[in-house]
Amino acid sequence: MMKTFTGTGASSGVAIGPTLVITRERAQIGEVEDPALAFAEAVSGVVVDLNALSTRAAEAGREEAAAVLGAQAMMADDPMLADSVAEQLEAGADLQTAIETSAATLSAMLAALDDEYLAARSADVLEAATRVVDKLAGVESDALGSITEPCIIVAPTLTAAETSQLDPGLVLGFVTEEGGATSHVAVIARSLDIPAVVGLADATTLAVASSTMILDGSTGEVVVAPNDDTIASFEQRRAAEEQTRLAADAFRGVSITFDGAAFSVPANVGGPEDVSRAVEAGADGIGLYRTEVLFLDRDEPPSESEQEAIYREALESFTHPVVVRTLDIGGDKPAPYLDTPEEENPFLGERGVRIYPVFADLFRTQVRALLRASNAGDLWIMIPMIATVADFLDTKAVIDEEADKLRKAGVELGSYRVGVMIEVPSAALLADRLAEHAEFFSIGTNDLTQYTMAADRMNGRLAQYSDPAHPAVLELCRLTALGASRHGVTVSVCGEAASDPTLSPVFAAMGITKLSVAAPRVNRVKAQIAAVDVDRARRAMNHAVEARDADEVRRLVGSMDLLDM
Ligand code: PEP
Ligand code: MG
Repeated sequence: MMKTFTGTGASSGVAIGPTLVITRERAQIGEVEDPALAFAEAVSGVVVDLNALSTRAAEAGREEAAAVLGAQAMMADDPMLADSVAEQLEAGADLQTAIETSAATLSAMLAALDDEYLAARSADVLEAATRVVDKLAGVESDALGSITEPCIIVAPTLTAAETSQLDPGLVLGFVTEEGGATSHVAVIARSLDIPAVVGLADATTLAVASSTMILDGSTGEVVVAPNDDTIASFEQRRAAEEQTRLAADAFRGVSITFDGAAFSVPANVGGPEDVSRAVEAGADGIGLYRTEVLFLDRDEPPSESEQEAIYREALESFTHPVVVRTLDIGGDKPAPYLDTPEEENPFLGERGVRIYPVFADLFRTQVRALLRASNAGDLWIMIPMIATVADFLDTKAVIDEEADKLRKAGVELGSYRVGVMIEVPSAALLADRLAEHAEFFSIGTNDLTQYTMAADRMNGRLAQYSDPAHPAVLELCRLTALGASRHGVTVSVCGEAASDPTLSPVFAAMGITKLSVAAPRVNRVKAQIAAVDVDRARRAMNHAVEARDADEVRRLVGSMDLLDM
């Protein structure tokens, strides 16, 4: 029977297709006649599977995923694991216990070694062992990696790494039980242009495997087992969206203005593949390069020369500025090889700029790579999680020091700017003081919202607090723009709110001259800003900052006709 539910819209677009439910229940091995033989056969099967997946990842250009899968194949076949399982079986353990305890012991041993490469293998042992158990239990491992037909995925949660590996050609959309609209999973879904709804409690129970599902990533609606009329009406919605997209395509590569001044719409990227998408979309450069993505899901950080090549490629791809954010590790983005302390509140802990003094070599290497690439284009270096003026000055001093050293060593540097990411409320309140030193600002509304509203961006149950349209957040954006204008500093927005149709014109009316958005949205935002009536946008902005709450902002601004047509 047809049922409709509502979660949080995380990536716009309508998807209609068969449902693939991923429950990730712990597999249980049943009765086995010859456990030692069954283990050996399961290991061989897993090694074949993993090597095949690794080859597929390499062919798709996902080198890091290929390396991880290859390493897991090796760990599944590790003689230490086999010996330990055999010993435990002899001592009378059942097969599942033998595998799981052996893997846990081996993993802990590797993690304790003073060797970064081997320590990183500790997670691979556990993953490999899970696959062996799955095989013995007859459960499909890695349902995500084995999709062959177009479908809509329903899962309790997806990791950022899993999301970035989804194939937009096969995954029509996804629904998760956890996550908020600005969680990194949502951010990645937008860059891949995969419609998504997050934070729908019990989604895996509500969904009906294999039956048709509809999701609308703008409204958060999810329809399970829709009837024909409902399918037809959502197909119309999808067609209307396609129309908007086609109309927006006319803005590809077009320069736009707002209130007579140049207005740019660059793209947010997380790696070389995103850079190509940004070029294809005709983006005005890059407004946020999330470089930590290059550092996650691998066993060691990329080297200076590897980074230089990546930054150089991005810079050479555009004549417009390329804003590269230095590492924002921490929060929900830990790097496996960094010995960061476990924290009760990682988002309020050692994250972004705060880890630079602790991992000074890592940061200085990134800075040198950026500076070496600076002659390849218009480089703007942006520092995340700035909370104080000292945060910025200290970091800028390190950049200047590395630049001096490189120049003395005869390296020819291009010009570059250094700016501040405004995402902590204190930075917004100190905007005028930061603007004395910074060469540009970019507002990260994702974190600015979570820190202003004290609402964890990963927690889907706090959706009513996590709306960047809240006047408390908008007022901080306005203050940032005001503080910046006193010192002639340009301000952009690079959080997800930049492409929110209600908020884009409001930001423009604040004096913000750049909105950096997921590549698939660049031209839609350009089309909207180009069509906005400046006076009406100003009125909307004044209403918005005076409103009582986010709903009122959305109602007020939504009811105004802002387009000059
Ligand atoms: C933000 O916080 O708004 C932002 C753009 O950065 P991230 O989402 O990577 O934290
Ligand atoms: Mg942020």
